[in-house]
Amino acid sequence: MKTNSFYIFLMRSVKFLYLMLVDFLSDSSEEDKENLKDILITQEGKGIFERQKSPYICLCCGRALSDDFRFCTDCLSRPVFFALSYARHITAYGSKQRQFINHWKFKRNRILAIPAAEKMFLVYKENFSDLAVVPVPPRKERLASAGFDCVNDMAFLLKWCFRLKVLTPLIRINSEEQKYKSFAGRTDKNLKRYAMKKNSRIRQQAVVLIDDIMTTGGTLEECAALLKSAGVKEVYALTLFYA
Ligand SMILES: [Zn+2]
Repeated sequence: MKTNSFYIFLMRSVKFLYLMLVDFLSDSSEEDKENLKDILITQEGKGIFERQKSPYICLCCGRALSDDFRFCTDCLSRPVFFALSYARHITAYGSKQRQFINHWKFKRNRILAIPAAEKMFLVYKENFSDLAVVPVPPRKERLASAGFDCVNDMAFLLKWCFRLKVLTPLIRINSEEQKYKSFAGRTDKNLKRYAMKKNSRIRQQAVVLIDDIMTTGGTLEECAALLKSAGVKEVYALTLFYA
């Protein structure tokens, strides 16, 4: 195990230097970087990954509840999760979180994968102890134009710095821009956006899907259904934020 920890240390250093370099090469101006400090730490000294105040969450979708109702009205009246057992998140997607994602995803501040992965690891440990992690794959066009993917970077850190088992059995097949679609379009059962990789074999009894933001939950459900059809018994999800 000693050689292993040296290897981890080495990988960690390499990744850190790499992230420093991409940070240096990112599109962020100095002003952006100053703004970023304000985003990461609020005036009360709290971080954007601070857990929500309410101790109650929907046992299914993981959104905050005002009281101990067990399930939110959405999950009771029009449930989205069938294959997925349940989802958990760090916190709600507010204006600060939106700015954080903007800096990370669109201004290409890749170093932000570090605080995100760190917090995700802590919440993972609380909820899932030692299950394998499956990142939701990115759109190929997005990967080509930006040169990176936030969830990929996070999965990389979870694997090499936090030593989680990371599996990548999924691929993205349809690249239509999600945000221009109606709610109905996003949860349409006939619209396949993901698939299992050819010859991908998955031996895990249970896995945790990871993603940056859960909106309708349609993406997580679709990926969970694929994994279950490939033989996984239980699929959970963990995202940074929920909208
Ligand atoms: Zn719910």
